[in-house]
Amino acid sequence: MDEPKDPQPAADSRPPLVAAHTRLSPMQEAWGTYAHHRLHCHQCADVDADPCPTSGRLYREWEAIAKAAARRLAGGVG
Ligand SMILES: [Zn+2]
Repeated sequence: MDEPKDPQPAADSRPPLVAAHTRLSPMQEAWGTYAHHRLHCHQCADVDADPCPTSGRLYREWEAIAKAAARRLAGGVG
């Protein structure tokens, strides 16, 4: 299965989280991106402030991948 090239993230350029030769599952990678953002984003790190929109987007992306994976594990079709 060919992997489509990811579009470059617009504003939030992410440094490599792990060595390039390490293959993570999409779910792990999405969570890692989210966790990395939360650690390094000033707004998200401020407990008195609401998480920034990027945080919400990254979380929803992870959630969508996790739900799809759970459906596959449960044996659901599609
Ligand atoms: Zn943030």
